[in-house]
Amino acid sequence: MTATDTWSPEQPIVSIRNIRKSFGALEVLKGINMDIMKGEVICIIGPSGSGKSTLIRCINALNDIQEGSIKVEGMEVHRPDLDKLELRKKIGMVFQQYNLFPHKTALENIMMAPVLVMKENKTEVEERARALLKKVRLDGKENAYPGELSGGQQQRVAIARSLAMQPDVMLFDEVTAALDPETVKEVLLTIKELAADGMTCILVTHEMGFAREVADHIYFTDRGVIVEHGTPDTFFDNAQDERTKLFLSQIL
Ligand code: ADP
Ligand code: MG
Repeated sequence: MTATDTWSPEQPIVSIRNIRKSFGALEVLKGINMDIMKGEVICIIGPSGSGKSTLIRCINALNDIQEGSIKVEGMEVHRPDLDKLELRKKIGMVFQQYNLFPHKTALENIMMAPVLVMKENKTEVEERARALLKKVRLDGKENAYPGELSGGQQQRVAIARSLAMQPDVMLFDEVTAALDPETVKEVLLTIKELAADGMTCILVTHEMGFAREVADHIYFTDRGVIVEHGTPDTFFDNAQDERTKLFLSQIL
């Protein structure tokens, strides 16, 4: 039996239980719990330094944890014998800095991990990469180099690059924060379309309009704890906690 045999789609696709994470003496996550169902869009919002990036890096095993458990499709992420490739096939991640390879074309950037890391058939991967470029509305840009693309276009290539691994869950950490305002919209539209296709998405974002429109559930974090969470309507119209109210009054 493998670790994933016990998971079925009626159960949370991502299950986070009481995780604690410290950097040295600094405790950054102080007992976080979340259950995310397949196909849900989750937005994590909160002040800078509250632990949002650390939390999503823990989901993807880019950070270790000191206590608790994170399961993705029933597979415990934080265990010594974790198969990182297995995890990469389950979870994709997109960062604020898209970090495309500058000397590779858009198409080559998307094809790299499946071909070089996963040793997949190049012809099949190329077909998939072309379809993904179309999906992120960049057909025609197959042979463009990152330097020839706008920030928003590069970020959409980065999204396509993550999707090329055919993950079941996508993590987005402030992916529009470094973009010019006019290209933010096109990236948010791409994520919206992904969500509409049924992709499970966990986003850290300051785009409140997007969160309100697209999220199924919003979590508000402050100093390493989830202060409150709920549907967008309850969250934006009926926040209970003073810290949430203060944050919203500053940002909205
Ligand atoms: P957010 O994404 O909400 O702005 P982060 O998760 O990036 O917050 O950071 C939470 C806290 O953890 C901050 O105090 C930050 O300085 C600290 N931190 C993050 N990464 C590291 C690291 N690699 N080493 C030490 N401290 C870190
Ligand atoms: Mg962050």
